[in-house]
Amino acid sequence: MDQETILILGGGIGGQVAANSLAPLLKGKHRIILMDKGQNFEFPPSFPWVVAGQRNPADIQKSLPLLLKKGVTFIQAEIFGIDPVSKKVKTSAGPLSFDYLLISLGAELAPGKISGFQEGALNLYTLDGSIQIHKSLQSFDQGKIAVLITSTPFKCPAAPYEAVFLIQDLLKKKGRKGEVAVFTPEPFPMPTAGSKVGEALRGMLESKGIRFYPGHKVTKIDPQGKTLIFENGKNENYDLLVGVPPHEAPKPVKESGLTNETGWIPVDRETLETKYPGIYAIGDVTTIPIAQGKTLPKAGIFAHYQAEIVAANILSRLNHQPEKGKFDGAGWCAIEMGSGVAAFGNGEFYAPNGAEVRLYRPDRFWHLGRVLFEKWWLSPFSIKRKILRLMLKMGARMRGISVSL
Ligand SMILES: Cc1cc2nc3c(=O)[nH]c(=O)nc-3n(C[C@H](O)[C@H](O)[C@H](O)COP(=O)(O)OP(=O)(O)OC[C@H]3O[C@@H](n4cnc5c(N)ncnc54)[C@H](O)[C@@H]3O)c2cc1C
Repeated sequence: MDQETILILGGGIGGQVAANSLAPLLKGKHRIILMDKGQNFEFPPSFPWVVAGQRNPADIQKSLPLLLKKGVTFIQAEIFGIDPVSKKVKTSAGPLSFDYLLISLGAELAPGKISGFQEGALNLYTLDGSIQIHKSLQSFDQGKIAVLITSTPFKCPAAPYEAVFLIQDLLKKKGRKGEVAVFTPEPFPMPTAGSKVGEALRGMLESKGIRFYPGHKVTKIDPQGKTLIFENGKNENYDLLVGVPPHEAPKPVKESGLTNETGWIPVDRETLETKYPGIYAIGDVTTIPIAQGKTLPKAGIFAHYQAEIVAANILSRLNHQPEKGKFDGAGWCAIEMGSGVAAFGNGEFYAPNGAEVRLYRPDRFWHLGRVLFEKWWLSPFSIKRKILRLMLKMGARMRGISVSL
């Protein structure tokens, strides 16, 4: 049997899971190459804890090669172009050919798309930005903190709300007189999860004294006047601005001919294959329509499950067997709320009449689950199994808990 090359672009959440799932399946019979421009992996779900001062930046980073299993070749290089027809990739380490390609290049942040963002806002979606926000909160005495979601789609629909809860909690603990407000173009928090979940989250925000401004799409930020200018004609002032910038597909993806009118890569929603056989895309870089004119949210949990499906199906293809793996649109997330508790959302996003999501009441149990999830991601393989066993035990207990809202 000829040795084939499986090239994985992107060493974030989807890329790592794909490579580490494939390595034991292929047992060295084929070549697995994972390419990323960075040598270091930062775990984004822990950024809100950095904002709250509950993690040091060093705690949530790991050298990427250390997270990859034996049998995966890591190449640190920037990807400049993807040619799906000739099956070649142009990179800073030279051209590379592939037999199978998995694109997991994520979503790029585009703060320059909103005038005044780079000068006026602290970026909630980068580690540096999270560190800056924490420093600013240390000296913040009183006034208005605006948390601004500039546009949709954005990664992890729960993340800005989680940060808001943690900021409010921090101010309260420090006895500061700040007002926290969220401005978003969304009609309610996490609209893909449905209005019941959205209204429950809105209620949780308001019960903590956080002001919520839906239907507010920012057009411009005036950093000198500390003013947000919205499409609906309203202006709002702030003292400290924390923002989620617009997102877009990375440049080589946009130029590859793989994207559609949404600017993201359309894929088969079950196999994650693009219109080119043997070329798959997963995670944030994709667009997957679901019921009610919505799209699957961009979240690490989906990138993770999709990566496992693609790895299994690549193995089937290599063995000339029918593909069995089908991504079913299921996903979950814990939403940190401060003071050691988290809410939990669990859903079927491919349900025919729209995503069916259950929101579980804030509890220490979900917070512990989130901590374990972080440890699992950043641990060596020897410990990963133990953490996974603990998480499975928690999952079993979860079935017996009835705390949905
Ligand atoms: C603050 C925050 C909190 C979050 N919390 C959660 C959560 O609790 N739960 C959850 O499920 N999700 C969460 N997410 C979302 C989650 O991080 C993403 O959905 C997930 O990382 C997507 O995985 P991915 O593999 O598609 O892309 P990524 O993980 O973003 O990986 C993309 C990789 O591609 C590399 N890359 C990009 N362009 C190039 C190039 N040209 N050349 C070389 N390399 C390149 C990047 O360096 C990166 O390593 C959160 C995100 C943020 C920002």
